[in-house]
Amino acid sequence: MPTEVEQLRDLAKLYWAGQPVPCPKHTGVMMSGSFVKTTYADHLFLTCPRGKETITIPQRPRQMEFYPQAVEGMVENIQRGDAILCYRCQSKIETATQENVETGRFAYTFTCVRCFSYGSWAGNPSAAKIGSAPGSGTQKKKKKTSEPVEV
Ligand SMILES: [Zn+2]
Ligand SMILES: [Zn+2]
Repeated sequence: MPTEVEQLRDLAKLYWAGQPVPCPKHTGVMMSGSFVKTTYADHLFLTCPRGKETITIPQRPRQMEFYPQAVEGMVENIQRGDAILCYRCQSKIETATQENVETGRFAYTFTCVRCFSYGSWAGNPSAAKIGSAPGSGTQKKKKKTSEPVEV
């Protein structure tokens, strides 16, 4: 069973991809959706034509897929036992972990509980670049990127 955060993440993903958004409660029924901009809280507003129930998904900042580098940084933080925060809105990140006992590979899926941005990473955490950076224990400074910076 997906968590509530995962469910909202997937609904938002479908909406932004321009795909039909199925109602979580009514199998086979597609919800109508709109993106509502307000002064304080942009959000997606979904309505089910069958049960008339509505779902509101906060979207400021708007959902996006985390950059691979950022996702790798989250895996590093897990290795160090540090908390992970969404770099877009500074909210908590929900982490789903799957471990393949045979290969020692881990698959992580990260979802921000506030903006529902997401990213996934799979591999052996002890290998690759993980841990190669000097562990300063502090958050990485914001690098210059082309991503829009929310203030
Ligand atoms: Zn419904
Ligand atoms: Zn976020």
